[in-house]
Amino acid sequence: MRASAFHISTIKEAPNDAEIASHQLMIRAGMIRKLAGGIYNYMPLGLRTIRKIENIIREEMNAAGALELLMPVVQPAELWQESGRWEKYGPELLRIKDRHGRDFILQPTSEEVITDIARNEIKSWRQLPVNFYHIQTKFRDERRPRFGVMRGREFTMKDAYSFDRDVDGAMQSYQAMFDAYHKIFTRLGLNFRAVAADTGSIGGSSSHEFQVIADIGEDLIVYDPRTDYAANIELAAAPCLIEKRAAAGQDLCKVHTPGAATCEEVKNLLSIDLSRTVKSIVLATEPADSDPQIWLLLLRGDHDLNEIKVGKLAGFEEGFRFATEDEIKEHFGSPPGYLGPVGLDDRVKVIADLTVANMNDFVCGANEAPYHLQGVNWGRDLPEPLLVADIRNVVAGDPTPDGKGVLNIQRGIEVGHVFYLGTKYSEALKATYLDETGKPAFMEMGCYGIGVTRIVGAAIEQNHDERGIIWPRAIAPFEVAVCGLGWGKSDAVRETATKLYEELKSQGVDVILDDRDLRPGVMFAEWELIGVPIRITVGDRGLANGQVEVLGRRESNAELVDLPDVVARVA
Ligand code: ATP
Ligand code: MG
Ligand code: MG
Ligand code: MG
Repeated sequence: MRASAFHISTIKEAPNDAEIASHQLMIRAGMIRKLAGGIYNYMPLGLRTIRKIENIIREEMNAAGALELLMPVVQPAELWQESGRWEKYGPELLRIKDRHGRDFILQPTSEEVITDIARNEIKSWRQLPVNFYHIQTKFRDERRPRFGVMRGREFTMKDAYSFDRDVDGAMQSYQAMFDAYHKIFTRLGLNFRAVAADTGSIGGSSSHEFQVIADIGEDLIVYDPRTDYAANIELAAAPCLIEKRAAAGQDLCKVHTPGAATCEEVKNLLSIDLSRTVKSIVLATEPADSDPQIWLLLLRGDHDLNEIKVGKLAGFEEGFRFATEDEIKEHFGSPPGYLGPVGLDDRVKVIADLTVANMNDFVCGANEAPYHLQGVNWGRDLPEPLLVADIRNVVAGDPTPDGKGVLNIQRGIEVGHVFYLGTKYSEALKATYLDETGKPAFMEMGCYGIGVTRIVGAAIEQNHDERGIIWPRAIAPFEVAVCGLGWGKSDAVRETATKLYEELKSQGVDVILDDRDLRPGVMFAEWELIGVPIRITVGDRGLANGQVEVLGRRESNAELVDLPDVVARVA
């Protein structure tokens, strides 16, 4: 590529709404242009990087045995109604109507469509396992699109979906994707960490996020490098705090939400598998006439719930009663496990399987007043209540949930997510295959996403300085810029630079020849902003000694290299 024939369009100042370095630099370098909130044009320069990221992902997905297909951006509502997500998904799902008034959506993800494909295509156990993926435009009507491509409304995702005969197979598929993700993010040149994440209503430990370490990251991750413990804060915080209380000799803690704003946090908490740290959970609303509020008791030790009631929680008698094991069995059809009691009336509820869905039964009030329990002096009779808002307040040095390590805390950008789905979608859409005995069985599924366009921003967050972007070579829009000084005046410069450019190209180097006859300062500043990893400067002065300058983007001093050695030096 010759710079004179390419669209290079750098600008001095980033717009005001670009708050973080990567967003500012992508605009200044001319990689993206905003079309609407969270919706961007990917300009020729930006698209080169996006395509390189896609290709690395594609190569590793193919190497892991996944099969590429392509599912439409526009999907019929019927499938989403079948899965139940038409109602559940909320305002992030963009719903549209066609001219006949039929409902469609713009896909935020593709579990429904891929499960529809699977149920139509896969008849026999012989066709399993299979893993389909695509790299496709997604739309999520994010509440707060920001940070440019990092949290866009329209963005590109690689999403893969595995289908297996049984749980064992699904775990193998999951592991294969987990390993492939390690290879992908390593090849992309990113500093990342895989952390355990919340599995929501699925349970188990099979969800991991791949987080790129960056101070502007919206996610908090906690880890202990000595014990290999690593999790996102949603998963870790509550167990860590419970462990902290245990370490202080307290085995009961109360979590309380004073208002509707924190309802989401209670839901998050309840979607976490707390079974390692908590034996029972009591979930209830405020008794009688007060404003509806949610509280929960996390009981770590062995408690006879009736004893708690009588002994420690005398104040609960007014509004609550703890159920017996028999009552729980009768109510939920299963023994309590680590689950708690049921209450007297409809203001008092307990969940049997700690699913988020169950939480929809609850109403949250907006009362900011602290919760008061008659007859109980928190802090004296019982440990101080833990506000739901506190749940995120784990600090470095707190114990890990297993009590064996100590937390370190970092900020991260979620660039990938692997998730074991079980039969959630195959059951909803009745995707069965005939097993070896000829009986129909639901397919075991997993889903695996990578935020292709988000990676562009994440990579820049990790690799930039005051002059601009510093691309990891694998995803640089160009690997090498050959800059001719005095292009219009010097035949020697033109000839040598062009020859170098042709040679590098023939060696497979992605090189751009700057033949624009710009002043050196302007030209150099532009390539530094764009972040090209290697710059070769061809000028009459160096050529007099048969040399050109080679400069790495991270280096401050150029190296004089003899012409015959240049290609080997940078190829
Ligand atoms: P987040 O927590 O950041 O909202 P998510 O958990 O909702 O992300 P997933 O449903 O796991 O996202 O989607 C898979 C991947 O898609 C994410 O790991 C992320 O890299 C990317 N992604 C999700 N939302 C966006 C977005 N609004 N803009 C760009 N990339 C996104
Ligand atoms: Mg999201
Ligand atoms: Mg997330
Ligand atoms: Mg996710």
